[in-house]
Amino acid sequence: MLDPDAARRITDAVDAAFDQQLEFTAELVRHPSLRSAEASAQNLMVAQFQQRGLSVDQWTLDGDSLSTHVGYGPTTVDFEDLTNVVGTYTAPEGQEEQGRSLILNGHVDVVPTGPEETWENHPWDPVVKNGWMHGRGVGDMKAGLAANLFAFDAVQAAGFSPNATIHFQSVVEEECTGNGSLAALQRGYTADAVVIPEPEENMLVRANVGVVWFRVRVSGKPTHVREMASGFNAIDAAYSVMGALRELESRWNAERANHRYFEDVDHPINFNIGMISGGDWPSSVPSWCEFDVRAALYPGIPAAEAWEEIQECVRTTEFGAAVSAERTGFFSEGYVLDEGSDAEATLEAAHQETFGSALESFTTPGYLDGRVFALYAGIPALVYGPVSEAIHGFDERVHLESVRRVTKTIALFIADWCGVTERSQ
Ligand SMILES: [Zn+2]
Repeated sequence: MLDPDAARRITDAVDAAFDQQLEFTAELVRHPSLRSAEASAQNLMVAQFQQRGLSVDQWTLDGDSLSTHVGYGPTTVDFEDLTNVVGTYTAPEGQEEQGRSLILNGHVDVVPTGPEETWENHPWDPVVKNGWMHGRGVGDMKAGLAANLFAFDAVQAAGFSPNATIHFQSVVEEECTGNGSLAALQRGYTADAVVIPEPEENMLVRANVGVVWFRVRVSGKPTHVREMASGFNAIDAAYSVMGALRELESRWNAERANHRYFEDVDHPINFNIGMISGGDWPSSVPSWCEFDVRAALYPGIPAAEAWEEIQECVRTTEFGAAVSAERTGFFSEGYVLDEGSDAEATLEAAHQETFGSALESFTTPGYLDGRVFALYAGIPALVYGPVSEAIHGFDERVHLESVRRVTKTIALFIADWCGVTERSQ
């Protein structure tokens, strides 16, 4: 444990630089890092890494090696547009490398805004109002990416150097495949713990679902609408297939009592029909319909097993071979953060110090990159971050006092987990 004086110096340093931290967060939001368009935001991260003297690794995701991994999500975009960046700190010359290493991870990609005119403020032009910063991606999770860097700064500004290696990861593809964090793992980045400051209401994620993305295609038989009965309406049939998927969703939800940490979650398994298109002409019976689905699965169930059941559901409708499904993204298992790790105890102590209350954990029915570290590398994945509202919705926002405290928690975590050496003045 840190002595109280050192802890106070570190948390004071977070306060001292907090305005700058918010400026940088806003700057990140002004770079609309939608899927395949993350480059300018990633360059901003690289500049931040360089300013801090970190060694920088910037690379394009490699589809060939990713596709060999069980956790790979099939992708519908070009790999050449997908770039990860990692900045690495190592103890300065003369300071012995010791303590426990750390990955501070965050995703830079954000989801689309929907109709921009529906936003109270422009989604890419962040404003601060009543203690909240508004903008697309500000909560999910640019405030977290900034918190990782400024937490590290605070340790240094307080006169300490961490004793162990820290990798700052800014990854892509978290909102669609999870291939960004997976690529970082494949590149060889591991550590004794990982912290991911996703917007988690000042709490620690204990368990979360896996996710599968897929597209259902229904092929119809087009006819002139005057002889509608002789055609086969692909759009009508698609609604019926959705009904079958809703039944599967209900069955899976009914099993929640058999899955630890999910017993008391209301509707943990959500199937979302997120996109739909079909038909070519109002007066022709539609010859095709496609819709895209996000489905969830409990931890411990391999994605391949869930996918088998989904395909079975889609194959056995009354429409037979007119209905097919293909994978289009996430193909991931969920995970559980094992209780009792040293990493969790360290986070608990840091949280207690900054919030004055015990750290709570909870189960989330969303996807998290934490699974990459937990499932495939056995690294304790601490997904812990600020209070937000309307992530993936209109007027997304993050609560600034929460960001401040989370940043302090991460700073104390760095100091305690990695160990620090006081620099001689
Ligand atoms: Zn996120």
